[in-house]
Amino acid sequence: MTRVLVVEDDPQLVRALVLNLQARAYGADAAPDGATALRLAATRRPDVVVLDLGLPDMDGLEVIKGLRGWTRVPIIVLSARHTSDEKVEALDAGADDFITKPFSMDELMARLRAAVRRTEPAPPADDTPLVTTDDFAIDLVARKVTRGGRTVRLTPTEWHLLEILISNPGRLVTQKQLLHDVWGPSSGDRTNYLRVYMAQLRRKLESDPSHPRYLITEPGMGYRFEA
Ligand code: CA
Repeated sequence: MTRVLVVEDDPQLVRALVLNLQARAYGADAAPDGATALRLAATRRPDVVVLDLGLPDMDGLEVIKGLRGWTRVPIIVLSARHTSDEKVEALDAGADDFITKPFSMDELMARLRAAVRRTEPAPPADDTPLVTTDDFAIDLVARKVTRGGRTVRLTPTEWHLLEILISNPGRLVTQKQLLHDVWGPSSGDRTNYLRVYMAQLRRKLESDPSHPRYLITEPGMGYRFEA
């Protein structure tokens, strides 16, 4: 059974979350504050943590940092905050994903499933790591992208960017992380690089580049590959 630790101080939301999780055969524990969350994470060993950033005793960021001191458990942040800065801070502190309140249970459940899937063991090494969508296929070993039976030529930078995104399916990858990994530590906040290269990738891969289906922008935060 997949165990979820819900860290949230709003009792009504906790009740709704726990009921929905149990109805979908998840195990659920609830913590109303950060100190309880850190204690329950250590004793109950959840498979996923759903964490509200606004807690009565400490900032949710401190909970993320506390957890990341010893565990890689996926953390999905619930945020009522409207500025993207705080979400980016949470992601950079080690959160895996975020959902903005108010959210639908279906959306949260989809994010939970994706987070759990990512922690499952990788397929055997002799499997060709092939990522396929309705529109294109990517062979990570041969470093080859095909679309409609034809090879799509990517520049090394485009390839590097795409590789990072498809290696994190469904997960938001922050601008900071992409810039750091593709352009190096001194690339700073040159998010215009990202916009240019993402536009090129969309032109090459998406059937409607202005309404991308696979390479999704999270405004002000980063990008997400949806298979
Ligand atoms: Ca709260």
